[in-house]
Amino acid sequence: MPLKIHIGPAGNCISARGGTIDSFKRLIELNLNAQEIEFVRGVWMTNSMAQRVGNAAKEMGIKLSIHAPYYINLCNPEKLRASEKRIMDSCERAYHLGARVVVFHPGYYGKLSESEALENVIDACKEMSKTLDKKRIRNVFLGLETTGKKSQFGTLDEIIEICEKVKHCTPVIDFAHIYARNGGKIDYKKIFDKVKVLRSKFLHAHFSSIEFTDKGEKRHIPVSNNEPDFRELAKEILKREVDITIICESPLLEKDASIMKNIFEDLGYKFD
Ligand SMILES: [Zn+2]
Repeated sequence: MPLKIHIGPAGNCISARGGTIDSFKRLIELNLNAQEIEFVRGVWMTNSMAQRVGNAAKEMGIKLSIHAPYYINLCNPEKLRASEKRIMDSCERAYHLGARVVVFHPGYYGKLSESEALENVIDACKEMSKTLDKKRIRNVFLGLETTGKKSQFGTLDEIIEICEKVKHCTPVIDFAHIYARNGGKIDYKKIFDKVKVLRSKFLHAHFSSIEFTDKGEKRHIPVSNNEPDFRELAKEILKREVDITIICESPLLEKDASIMKNIFEDLGYKFD
């Protein structure tokens, strides 16, 4: 299998006039090939709409993923039920959309120790993993995102440990978040080395530049700020032949996704 790179925006293209399918048409014009459907404020799509949108994406060769609602906290037992439901509703839509990864931020440490929070998230993921099997939702992965604030659960090590222990879990590497959490440092080589233990056939990722404080992430900013540097990441991906989907979370969405695509082309990769 040749190396496959997918790049696209987090949500509908800013330059698209109508809804999700119009956004796909715009992606085709821009020669981009992925989009994350945003359920961040709620799962707004019905299953039948998901099927329709999914068929259109398939015809146009657009790789889909979903971002589940922000209001999720698997660390806190009081929020657990509602959180799991939001993720499982997203997984059901993902199944109908043909989307492979349902991305979510696992939660906040709150008063818990790091190891207590980890145990809680592992238990919750095991529950959801069983539900996926029970509902026969195949080819949909629980995508645990590396988070940007130090108060949030989700260092790279925590996420990898869960993915090692629980079926149907995959890491979502948000490079900007890792950079912000590390106070403006990132070692791409080390990240790919760590992820290798999972022997995953693909990797789902988020990218943008980012502003941060000593507490971590402040806000996502355009890729041109080079914080972190995309070219170095692209080189590492090509060198390691990682089958990767990169979702652009900069405020400029498809414009910056195109910049990222151009950098890959500049380095010799050909999008078909
Ligand atoms: Zn992200």
